[in-house]
Amino acid sequence: MPITRIPNTPSPEELAEIVRMLPPDGVCRTCGRWRCASCGAQRSIRNRFSPRPHQCASCKSLDGEMLPSRHRDPVDHFIGFISMSVDDECSLRHPVAAPIPEAARQLIDSLREVTNALS
Ligand SMILES: [Zn+2]
Ligand SMILES: [Zn+2]
Repeated sequence: MPITRIPNTPSPEELAEIVRMLPPDGVCRTCGRWRCASCGAQRSIRNRFSPRPHQCASCKSLDGEMLPSRHRDPVDHFIGFISMSVDDECSLRHPVAAPIPEAARQLIDSLREVTNALS
């Protein structure tokens, strides 16, 4: 059965469907490691949807880059990615260069249609 909403607690079937959509490169589309260009400090799990630029906690510089991060259990972060992508209020400001898997792209598009039809 196709997914028509983002479940808070996915059923085993929904989970299996989402696992099939995980990016094969294993790079998280929701977060990344941020590296400060000024002092080299790194922070893990910075949100790629953050509306503000990331700032270094050590030297306060805004100049830095998002590096890929991978998780031992990537499913929760990927569900988060899909729901934030569907939400018009969220935009992906610090994206990974690698593409989003086609199945996930289609799911996001169809969920957006459902959301728009309801509003
Ligand atoms: Zn992540
Ligand atoms: Zn710094």
